Amino acid sequence: MILKKLFNKRNHKNPLIISGPCSIESPNQLEVTVSQLVDQGIEIIRGGVWKPRTRPGSFEGLGSIALPWIQEIKSKYPVKFTIEVASAEHVEEALKYDIDIFWIGARSTVNPFTVQEIADSLKGTGKPVMIKNPVNADLSLWMGAVERFQKAGITDLAVIHRGFSNFRDTIHRNSPLWQIPIEFRTHFPEIMMINDPSHISGKRELVPLIAQKALDLNFDGLMIESHIDPDNAWSDAQQQLTPAALKKMLSELKTRKVKF
Ligand code: PEP
Ligand code: MN
Repeated sequence: MILKKLFNKRNHKNPLIISGPCSIESPNQLEVTVSQLVDQGIEIIRGGVWKPRTRPGSFEGLGSIALPWIQEIKSKYPVKFTIEVASAEHVEEALKYDIDIFWIGARSTVNPFTVQEIADSLKGTGKPVMIKNPVNADLSLWMGAVERFQKAGITDLAVIHRGFSNFRDTIHRNSPLWQIPIEFRTHFPEIMMINDPSHISGKRELVPLIAQKALDLNFDGLMIESHIDPDNAWSDAQQQLTPAALKKMLSELKTRKVKF
């Protein structure tokens, strides 16, 4: 029960921090990033292996080739590792390696058949799962995805608020619509709520503001993309922070005075 345990350990001054690159690009990029994140006390690393992209032609992840690199990293550093899975085949491949936590991306949460297929493939494995909100502002669809995992007996769950897409350009890459995660919590108070300021903001200057807002609203954790050379990242270049910038941002986030 990795996520449930982390949820119990959390308090308002101690949000769970997950960080790592949008995409895993090479063994060296992964190792340098992880070593710098470990130096600042990060214990859960994210890294994209399969990347469902909105339009063809963008980098869609290195795929299975990156899985042994993760295993190698885990033998050298005291970290847990989370990756996105978007199909039962991804789960089957990933289960051959020591991956600690899986997450369901916003483009998968919209599809009940995909969610069901992933839930069925994880049944009985004991693996924890984090479920991002769907790309569209549909609370029921998000709740339904959680229920599909629960019905499959997977109860070590967290959810990730990554914002909602827009037709028009807005300040945010994905509008936060904070009322949706807040209402979600009233239905599932036992599930840890993590905020993803990287995909909401879409640009690194805005990441701290969104992260601060999430903490002010008593979110339980933050998942923040970090990259050793953000401008040259293979995906989401504009929104990734260097590990040093992440450290600075985390040190500047303010916690509330009120104790819960
Ligand atoms: C990601 O986490 O890199 C990602 C693609 O996220 P989302 O599913 O929120 O778009
Ligand atoms: Mn990304």
